[in-house]
Amino acid sequence: MLKDFLQIPRRNPQYRAGRTEDFKDVEIRPSREIVAEQSKRCMGCGIAFCNAYGCPLGNSIPEFNAAVCGGRMEYAYKILSITSPFPEFTSRVCPALCEAACCAGLPSEPTTIKQIEYEIIESAFNEGLVKPRSSAFHSGRRVAVIGSGPAGLACADKLCSLGHEVCVFEKRHRAGGLLRYGIPNFKLEKNVIDRRIALMCEAGITFEYDVDVGSDVSLDFLKRKFDAVALCIGAEEPRDLKIKGRELGGIHFALEFLNSQARFLSGESDSLKISAKDKNVLIIGGGDTGSDCLGTAIRQGAKSVVQIEIMPEPPSSRDSSTPWPMWEYKKRTSSSHLEGGSRMWSVGSSEFSGENGMVCALKAKRLKWTFENGRPKTFEEIEGSDFEIKAELVLLCMGFTGVKRGGLVEDSGAELSTRGVLKVSSDFQTSIGGVFACGDAASGASLVVRAIASGRNLAENIDKFFKTNVK
Ligand SMILES: Cc1cc2nc3c(=O)[nH]c(=O)nc-3n(C[C@H](O)[C@H](O)[C@H](O)COP(=O)(O)OP(=O)(O)OC[C@H]3O[C@@H](n4cnc5c(N)ncnc54)[C@H](O)[C@@H]3O)c2cc1C
Repeated sequence: MLKDFLQIPRRNPQYRAGRTEDFKDVEIRPSREIVAEQSKRCMGCGIAFCNAYGCPLGNSIPEFNAAVCGGRMEYAYKILSITSPFPEFTSRVCPALCEAACCAGLPSEPTTIKQIEYEIIESAFNEGLVKPRSSAFHSGRRVAVIGSGPAGLACADKLCSLGHEVCVFEKRHRAGGLLRYGIPNFKLEKNVIDRRIALMCEAGITFEYDVDVGSDVSLDFLKRKFDAVALCIGAEEPRDLKIKGRELGGIHFALEFLNSQARFLSGESDSLKISAKDKNVLIIGGGDTGSDCLGTAIRQGAKSVVQIEIMPEPPSSRDSSTPWPMWEYKKRTSSSHLEGGSRMWSVGSSEFSGENGMVCALKAKRLKWTFENGRPKTFEEIEGSDFEIKAELVLLCMGFTGVKRGGLVEDSGAELSTRGVLKVSSDFQTSIGGVFACGDAASGASLVVRAIASGRNLAENIDKFFKTNVK
């Protein structure tokens, strides 16, 4: 038992053959037996860093692994559900900060915590153990949650379980935020979100769709009708690339592209607004959003796909600047990268060129980076390194610069931080009394697991606020 992490090899996720012919989940899930065997690799751990240091939710990972190892799946689910409201989302899309901090990762490879989490939650759903979370106690307090991404959902779920009445306002047609309209189906099929929303409705949470707060209804109105308002509106402002030729047709932000595919697949839209079919596609930005665009473009039948990144190529294994148990700085290869396309690093974008108003190429330059303590610091363009990348579709995947300006943010008068997100105090209050914020809207673009943790923490703070501000 104590040396299982050395004797049992880690089994990495496997991907389906022929997966680029459809948009379904790419992973092949291991059998219960394999998962139970993998959980044994956790059992020799002395001091667990995965839960306290790694997981933003503080999941009791060694405890649920011990339950899985002993074949007690129901108990494992009970342990997991204490800290994690939506393990079905994180077990599919989380980069697994816990695995980077796993003790087995020091002498060997980390435990496959994410796959174990998947088996626990899916077997709990199959066994009918996942129930609506409501409360017999009713506080008489009403909260308006604006935005139904993972932060808003976690906040609504926790508030409801604490006995408060919750109404979620969502400007889109369906719930989920980036879980539904950003992350592609091949990473997260959307029936997984629908299944959870049905439980939340059963618990008594109300969802109002197609309501853009700040435009269809004012924040002032909601403040009058509810005892507290939670702004869980994400960080939707994309970073632009203001170079010559940016106005040409065929250049889009990543989310316009991913959104159009998601809406087409769900039947929300009857045509694909942006298609990569038979086009040379250029993805600018080497992160996860770029990788999601790559997988989507390949499935749409792109002629070629190139993903470029301004930063230099990271090392292939954990860099010494990010020692265990930190989230490691290293080159990451997603399932989409294994499907095709090519990647280039240290590339600077100079200008787009076009024909008849449509983009046809990017003029670029190679960059030379200097490093400090193993990390890239400054760059200069390499003289005479100019080259061209042919592209009829360009996708800008360079991150986000904070909350969407105008509309609700302007209407509310809420103060923004220098990072373009809503300024909040330690108890998540914005500069407007009774109005709180969490998730990407308060932290800047981050991760699903952090948004869920932040939504849950905000709900606890609103609960405290009610207790100290008696009606
Ligand atoms: C393409 C892409 C892929 C990603 N992949 C991953 C991944 O694999 N793993 C991972 O951990 N993270 C991933 N992320 C990051 C992750 O999705 C976000 O960190 C997370 O969704 C943030 O949650 P949130 O609830 O704060 O915001 P969002 O998910 O952005 O939700 C905000 C919601 O608020 C709604 N809203 C905004 N304004 C209003 C208004 N005025 N009125 C009503 N509703 C409003 C929006 O419509 C939206 O539904 C990805 C991000 C992108 C862009």
